[in-house]
Amino acid sequence: MNIYLLIIIIFLILSYLIGFISDYLNVKNMSEVLPKEFEGYYDAEKYKKSQNYLKDKTNFSFISSLFVLVTGIVFILAGGFNFVDKFARSFGYGEIVSGMIFISVLMLLLNIIKIPFSAYNTFVIEEKYGFNKTTIKTFISDIIKNNLLLILIGLPIFAVIVWFFMEFNSMAWVYAVLTVIFFELLFTFIAPVLIMPLFNKYIPLEDGELKTELENYAIRENFKMKGLFKMDGSKRSTKSNAFFTGFGKFRRIVLFDTLIEKHTTQELVSVLAHEMGHYKKGHINKFMIMSFLNTILIFFVLSFFIGNVGLFEAFSMEYVSVYGSLVFFGFLYTPISMVLSVIQNVISRKYEYESDRYAVETYKNPEAMTEALKKLSVDNLSNLTPHKLKVFMEYSHPPVLERIKAIKNIKI
Ligand SMILES: [Zn+2]
Repeated sequence: MNIYLLIIIIFLILSYLIGFISDYLNVKNMSEVLPKEFEGYYDAEKYKKSQNYLKDKTNFSFISSLFVLVTGIVFILAGGFNFVDKFARSFGYGEIVSGMIFISVLMLLLNIIKIPFSAYNTFVIEEKYGFNKTTIKTFISDIIKNNLLLILIGLPIFAVIVWFFMEFNSMAWVYAVLTVIFFELLFTFIAPVLIMPLFNKYIPLEDGELKTELENYAIRENFKMKGLFKMDGSKRSTKSNAFFTGFGKFRRIVLFDTLIEKHTTQELVSVLAHEMGHYKKGHINKFMIMSFLNTILIFFVLSFFIGNVGLFEAFSMEYVSVYGSLVFFGFLYTPISMVLSVIQNVISRKYEYESDRYAVETYKNPEAMTEALKKLSVDNLSNLTPHKLKVFMEYSHPPVLERIKAIKNIKI
């Protein structure tokens, strides 16, 4: 058996199994007893409901990821990639256009597979627990917009990268890195103004007590806010959130309307303080640099696999091409990207503690911060007792009880 094929299939199965084991342990780890911190926030019935939500979500993920795994392996072994490649070449265009057709058909197939699962998740599971607000119309228009963005932005970038590797041998990966980093930077600037508004409405927070309090805090902490926005998160779900986005002129803090609805002014200032903490502590820039390093690593390693015949045999391909190399390398890179994502989560959880600390030390209201975290958990039916392995692998935020414990230990 081809060594690349063996490696790829082993890793596909391995990553499924790791996910399966961590999910299984996670459900096993559920405690019948409501953690003390949450007494008065959950009644027995609602706590049970949060656990059923976790079970339903987990079962669904078992089935959907198994389906993706099996379909993927069958597609590889049955020579699906070669079939798509021959179709792409049948139009008789050059390498670049054939590559664009090749990747588009693959993305289309992937999307078709994903739609029923995503619909089930939204309209059955989320609906059952009272979260869903997405209409069929929004659901469909989201799919169309996402795909249009991929075609308009992703496809030309893909074509340029293929061209680099066809034209410039040893320097190609450097040009590819520069191009991708350029677009990454460009999008952090323009996404908040050009792309995100395609999906949600962002309106400047209206004048009033909340805005005054938030601004006073920001002025006190010497934070120049370029914009404080309310987003219609309620268009899709009752779940609530807040985030920080953009750079420079386009920097903005976004609060979901669902968050504003359910929290007091002091709790919302705590949330803002936490988001500002990410900025003040340099987390945003550090993550950006990590992502650049990742881009460099990807293209550097990729450059050794361009036109690798063994890799094409693994996918039963008749023709060797640059665009095929890009796609197949993606499979080889999966284990590396898995390890990197775990590392990124470890760092992110550390940053969350730092931001909580920043918020508490500057706003000096640990009660409001804790209250906000508790309400967020209850409203989103978060799992209060996740398993360590699940947290280690997938959690970008520490479990809420650990955050609350850490907040209690902060001296102000
Ligand atoms: Zn955070």
